[in-house]
Order: sequence, then structure tokens, then C-alpha cells
Amino acid sequence: MSETPLLSAVALQKTFTVSAQSRSTRLLVALDHVSLHLSSGETLGIAGESGCGKSTLAKIMAALLTPDGGSVLYKGAPLGQLGENERKAFRRKTQMIFQDPFSSLNPRMRIGDSISEPLKIAGMPVPLQRAELTRIMAAVGLQSGDADRFPDEFSGGQRQRIGIARALAASPEILIADEPVSSLDISIQAQIINILLQMKRDFALSMMIVSHNLLILRHICDRIIIMYLGVVVECGPASELFRRCRHPYTEALIAAIPGLHVSSVSRSELLRDDLPSALSIPPGCRFHPRCRHAVDLCRREVPGLVEYAGGHTAACHLSDRLYG
Ligand code: SF4
Repeated sequence: MSETPLLSAVALQKTFTVSAQSRSTRLLVALDHVSLHLSSGETLGIAGESGCGKSTLAKIMAALLTPDGGSVLYKGAPLGQLGENERKAFRRKTQMIFQDPFSSLNPRMRIGDSISEPLKIAGMPVPLQRAELTRIMAAVGLQSGDADRFPDEFSGGQRQRIGIARALAASPEILIADEPVSSLDISIQAQIINILLQMKRDFALSMMIVSHNLLILRHICDRIIIMYLGVVVECGPASELFRRCRHPYTEALIAAIPGLHVSSVSRSELLRDDLPSALSIPPGCRFHPRCRHAVDLCRREVPGLVEYAGGHTAACHLSDRLYG
């Protein structure tokens, strides 16, 4: 990679302390040395089952959560070394869209005021604020008359439009969306995805989209990272990942998509049992208890990420043998 990435993560670690009934505490490993980069203008997808560390990663990348180890770099500069003003500027330039936009909106505030808040904070003159509000609301498919209504008067899909509009009002460079459509009906999901794609083009955004829905990520992302129990197990261009994945976990996730199961092996055999608890990570390859290909080496040694052609990486001892 020759150019300095817009945003990158180097060996991020995050653990949470969990209180057990016996009053003893245990450590839940959410992220274990996760590294990634987001290039300018790129859309990066983060996929994996619930509990793989995707949301924790998104919050750390947006500086809403502090890692225990490793660092996030904005244009090559570690966030931890930014001064107060630079850090504030990074927060403004990096906006987050949540799964439940309602929780991030003040229920007693008219949505016009909520969306305009970043414009006020930026010191924009009031007449310009009104014009900008109209422009942003139109861009996400909201009517100008909606500005005087309250959040509880809107449907889930409309609230997500409000969340996107509020994020856009901050003139962001980076948009980080955590499961932006998972709580919406299928028809509404498509509308929100199309809005995100349109916003990316119109506002020249770089985006990181967290989703357990690989099909959506394939549709909107340039590259996809697959996470499993706090680590990256595969990363590659979206089309390449679907054409020829290099990790049995990715293969199982793709096979779980309705209409895409082409293997003669059943879905339950491709992905055995449920996701183990992040409180007790299996030794060696952490996917081995669920992997039908696991051999002794897999139970003993952690596979490192290996680079393949075309910016494709995977962490599996048997990747060459299984996928050529
Ligand atoms: Fe399966 Fe072994 Fe590869 Fe892990 S390293 S995914 S257990 S084959």
C-alpha cells in the first residue's frame, strides 16, 4: 500500500470485564490484535456473526471507545497523540450511524433542530442553516415539512434517514454505520442502502459498514473484512471474496445466504454448533471447534494472516489445500 490510508487500525485490543455470579470477574476478549485500513473514497464492510467484535471495532474507529492496546491512525497520525482541537475535528469528520437511530435522537427535539445541531455548532449563519437543512433533508428523501415533527412521529426507515441526515450535516469525511438496516423491513432496507450509496457519491464519503448481512455488503462495499471471535480471518475485494473465498468460516457465511448455497455439504456441516463464548476462546485456530476441516495443527497453532494476490488475505492453515 503506497498511499497513507485515511483511517487505519494497528493491532487493536479490547477486553471487557464481566462479573460472574460467584462475584469473580472474567475477561471477555472483544478484539485481539485487529489491524485494517480504510482508503479515501473506499467502502469497507465488516462482517461476522453477532459477538465477533464488529460493533466494538466500529466504536473504537469512531473514537467513541478507547482500545486497551494498539492504535487508530487518522491520515497516519495516532488519535492518542492528537491535540484537543484536532481530536474534536476528527470526531466531526467521522460520523457514526447506529442500528437504532431513535436512541441517538432527543425525543423532545424537533428533527429539524436535531439535524441542524452540527450546523449550529460549526457556527453557520441561521439563514444558511435553513437552506442547508432543506438540502440535506431532500438528499435523504425527507420532506421539508418533516423538520417540525418529533422523532416518535416517524417510522423506523424514516428515522434512519434522519440519522443519516444528522451525520451528513457535520460534513463528514468518514461515515461508520453499525448495522444500519438490520432492524428494518426488506423493502426499506433497499431504500436506505440506496441512500447510502447516493450519499457516498454526492458527498465524496469514505465508509465503513458493519453488518452480519454479507449480501448487503457485497452490494455496497469495495472490500470486506470477515471477523471471527475478535480476530480478522479473511479480507479481500468484495467480488473476489464471493468468487473464491479462502477461509472455511467465510465459505459457511456465504453458504448461509439464501440462494447461494452451492456446496454438496450441508449448511450445518459447514458451520457446526453456535459461536463459542468470547469468555473462553478456543486455543489454536479459534474456529477449529466448528470447522469440518480441522486437523491437529489447527488445535495447536494460531494461523497467521497470509497475503494472496489482489490484496486478499486469510488466516487458515489449510487455505492453499482447500481453495487452491
Ligand atoms: Fe479450519 Fe484449521 Fe483453517 Fe482453522 S486453520 S479454519 S480449523 S482448517
